[in-house]
Amino acid sequence: MGCVCTPQIVRRDLTNINMEKEKQNIQVGMVLHYFKSQIKIPDVQREDTAWTLEQKQLLIDSIYNNYDIPKFYFRKDDADDEIWWLLDGQQRLTAITNFLEDKFALDGGSDVTSIPKEIHNKKFSELSAKEKGKINGRSLDFVVMVCSEEEEEDLFLRLNKGTPLNAAEKRNAVKGDFKDLVKKLSAHAFFKTKINFPSTRYAVDGVVAQLCVLTIHNAIVDIKGKQIMDMYVAKKRFPEKDKIEKIVSASLTWMNQVFKKKETYLKKYSLWSIFIFYNEIKNNYSISSITKEEFFEFFNTFETDRQKNNLKTEDDSSFDRDLNTYTILCVNGSDSQQALFKRNSILIKKFLTTFPNIETKDSNRNFTSAQKETIYYLCDQKCQGVPRFKCPVNNDILLFEDVEFDHIKEHADGGKSTVDNGQVLCKACHSHKTKSSIKDREKGK
Ligand SMILES: [Zn+2]
Repeated sequence: MGCVCTPQIVRRDLTNINMEKEKQNIQVGMVLHYFKSQIKIPDVQREDTAWTLEQKQLLIDSIYNNYDIPKFYFRKDDADDEIWWLLDGQQRLTAITNFLEDKFALDGGSDVTSIPKEIHNKKFSELSAKEKGKINGRSLDFVVMVCSEEEEEDLFLRLNKGTPLNAAEKRNAVKGDFKDLVKKLSAHAFFKTKINFPSTRYAVDGVVAQLCVLTIHNAIVDIKGKQIMDMYVAKKRFPEKDKIEKIVSASLTWMNQVFKKKETYLKKYSLWSIFIFYNEIKNNYSISSITKEEFFEFFNTFETDRQKNNLKTEDDSSFDRDLNTYTILCVNGSDSQQALFKRNSILIKKFLTTFPNIETKDSNRNFTSAQKETIYYLCDQKCQGVPRFKCPVNNDILLFEDVEFDHIKEHADGGKSTVDNGQVLCKACHSHKTKSSIKDREKGK
């Protein structure tokens, strides 16, 4: 009789952890499918030390003989219910998938095994249908938890290294101005009823700290655990905290007015994006003509379209590449500078397309880069041509760097810097138009 109690297989049980969880029985035969589609391995979980062949063989032996296999633990992704982050069981899952993919053979009859002689040294594909069925049909216990990233970190540490402080607890341990600022803003009404993530104190503090970091930098930066922790330490004494509080608080108040109730998409990654978006448009455009209801409608349409787009394939004629990119960047590294920046530019572009008559705050200024990108996109990346002039590039697709942005009604004649008063022209057409409008103006004088 083989002993299956190798120390690597017997792991701590998390059954008593007080968190929302669902149990599922997944058959071994389905593991490959899950492993390739919805299971993701967080970076911190990746282990360098792979199991030995003997350890892998032992696990399959246990599956075959219906011995106890410890539960597998996952965390449901905040953004996508279909994604499960693996918390515990990486070695075991890897061993199972490797076996199903014929990457190793069963044991050849050492004293630790207890599989019948007929299947010694056999790979999965070499087994009879009956033996395959015995392995494929064995069910494994998957426990899928719903918890915040902070709680996940805590769980992971407990699973692996006992019970040290989690990141939020560490942040909490740093006393000072930044902590007080976070505490104060965390009490904002917006967090009471509108968000769609666990409104635990640590989770809300974490998001507030991220919004403060963005505001302090006055730029889009990484807002990962490290940047947050650094800020708690760097701003223990923080004379400008009232100024930051005002900006963040005003944005939260605006969000609280725009969203009347809890919306499913008001996850952490959406909050960061809406916050960045609001501060950018508020600082650069005159938005007073847009009502809160219109803003809500805009966000709602954006999210509905995005969900619909997630179901489409790339060859679908209505597939929206921008929305697809946005979704990808919500799932992976969503708190990185790059993801935040790209998501924001997509959101701003959709906004300027929806409200093309929005003017820049400073009426003397030229188009913003976001307006230029939107105009370029709306003009299909082509020169729009001018009357009575033969465009040298005609209908060619032009690079963003090679086009010029023209006020349809000239700036000098009171034409505004709005998306609907903008068009793409090639250099030749633009120069022709500029020359003739100068002439026209001179004639008019
Ligand atoms: Zn042209």
